[in-house]
Amino acid sequence: MCRHLAYLGPPARLADLLFDPPHALAHQAWAPRDMRGGGTINADGFGVGWFAGETPIRYRSAMPIWSDAALPALAAATTSGAILAAVRSATAGMPVVETAAAPFLDGRWLISHNGVVRGFPGSLAGLAAELPVQELLTLEAPTDSAALSRYIGHHLRAGKPVDEVVATLVAEIRTTAPGSRLNLLLTDGEQIIASTAGHSLSVRATAGAVLVASEPLDDDPAWRPVPDNHLLIATSTDVSLGEV
Ligand code: GLN
Repeated sequence: MCRHLAYLGPPARLADLLFDPPHALAHQAWAPRDMRGGGTINADGFGVGWFAGETPIRYRSAMPIWSDAALPALAAATTSGAILAAVRSATAGMPVVETAAAPFLDGRWLISHNGVVRGFPGSLAGLAAELPVQELLTLEAPTDSAALSRYIGHHLRAGKPVDEVVATLVAEIRTTAPGSRLNLLLTDGEQIIASTAGHSLSVRATAGAVLVASEPLDDDPAWRPVPDNHLLIATSTDVSLGEV
């Protein structure tokens, strides 16, 4: 498992998501509460992406989030109205390298995947066949999550609606790789799209801000669990849910 979150709203400090709340992402990295499908801690790297203009900025590492000495000051000093962050527990056999840590980046989209594609890479052969070979040769890392992100990015660049791209991907992988876990999380700075398929997710929508996270960051009663097998689409002022 990994843990991930995305925020849209008035400018927030990265620290407001990564470090300061009682169950902030850094806390979820070493003391997650809702693990499904194995794994104990999320120590195989982390990443945070935020919008400061047109193109997102990323800061990623193969180290545990709690061991990065530079991050607390960076997170306290950096604010953004659109943030996506993740901590990673690498699936067995997948490399622990910076480029395998979400968020992946494709155009304006920051993309994260919490889960596993069973039978990877063979089970993705059908989906990969839709991509030009150049796209496969330039994956950020040889992992299931990097491949899913590239597939999503390819179809978004082709102009397909994001909810359709994510829903189609989840449906196809259910068929070609049964037992896969596919909690995807994306933002382009204006909307958040998240799927639940095998892992936990919660959402908190308050006064012009929305926060989607694998686990609630605090005891705020405004947190709502997202049921499994759903697609969430949110802006800073609106959240909608449908089955997927
Ligand atoms: N399978 C992905 C990876 O290894 C995601 C792992 C996870 O969600 N724990 O990076």
